[in-house]
Amino acid sequence: MSELPGFRDARYAQAMKREIENLSENRQLRIVHVCGTHEDTISQHGIRSLIPRNLGLVAGPGCPVCVCAAEDVDMAIAIAKQGHIVTTFGDMFRVPSTESSLAKERTKGADVRIVYGAIDAVDIARKNPEKEVVFVGVGFETTAPTIALELLRKPPPNFSILTSLKVIPPAMDLLVNIEGFSVDGFITPGHVSAIIGTNAFQPFVEKHHVPCVAAGFEPLDVLEAIRMLLVQINEGRAESENEYTRVVLPEGNIAAQRVLAQAFRIDDAPWRGLGIIEKSGYFIQEEFAEHDARLRFNFPDIESVDILPGCRCHEVILGMVDPVDCKLFGKRCTPEDPYGPCMVGHEGTCRIRHENLIL
Ligand code: SF4
Repeated sequence: MSELPGFRDARYAQAMKREIENLSENRQLRIVHVCGTHEDTISQHGIRSLIPRNLGLVAGPGCPVCVCAAEDVDMAIAIAKQGHIVTTFGDMFRVPSTESSLAKERTKGADVRIVYGAIDAVDIARKNPEKEVVFVGVGFETTAPTIALELLRKPPPNFSILTSLKVIPPAMDLLVNIEGFSVDGFITPGHVSAIIGTNAFQPFVEKHHVPCVAAGFEPLDVLEAIRMLLVQINEGRAESENEYTRVVLPEGNIAAQRVLAQAFRIDDAPWRGLGIIEKSGYFIQEEFAEHDARLRFNFPDIESVDILPGCRCHEVILGMVDPVDCKLFGKRCTPEDPYGPCMVGHEGTCRIRHENLIL
């Protein structure tokens, strides 16, 4: 890809379209991606209209706030209600939970602040030593190292983190084990792969014999990844390949992996609407327990509800239904007033679909 003159060149897109048509040979095939940014590229650039109808291109669980379990949001809300300062990313701020959201709590007087990263939350903690300051950390392997780094930098004692950080490969494992879920190849997220490397997906491809290609975020990146997957499928191969060679290394970013391993341990974690997925979440190492909001605060007994009545986010996240199949889409549930988590952020499948239908 790096030899191409431009990543949005229509001539190359047309040539790739023809090659994809030839390689797919009119067979019914299903390619799944697990990345909100890929879904944004695919929808914005009309990639589904470029590829043959027999080739399904499906969005899986790739939006971090969409898969953030209601129990994690409920914990953040409980901390805010106790009078502490809660900080988080803009998308997380509006994610609906069992009965409320951080945004709604702020309108009731809670001190909830939007920050660009954990470093800003640490700064707030230093400036408010008399207050407890909690950062709600949401994201995948891409975001996790920046949060981990703040733990290693000796934050002030009044700073803690509520982790809701997820690991992608175990979610792919879950998908292929769901009865009735079919997948012929995965496009894996370029930014996640930049951290963990394409080698991290090798155990998955060996276990399930499903090819993977790590892709960048330009339209031609995605088309090239589809082409590479089709070549693997036609040759009966299943390997973890790399389309995003200008960023991703097979071994990933070793320094970031070290930071992650120092600050976090990997354990079973809840995903919204999907239940507990084994070894799929980053949690704070015992050494940093004083900064672990899960241990630092008391939480009321709440029966958290991941999926509110009528919402089909759990099916959208699995690529089993299209957002427009949800009766609430564009009516009770809009980007201005999201009812389910997939309508909140720019990586949410329902939000992306809504914006591209309106445009
Ligand atoms: S449209 Fe809204 S309620 Fe329906 S699945 Fe999407 S986020 Fe959930």
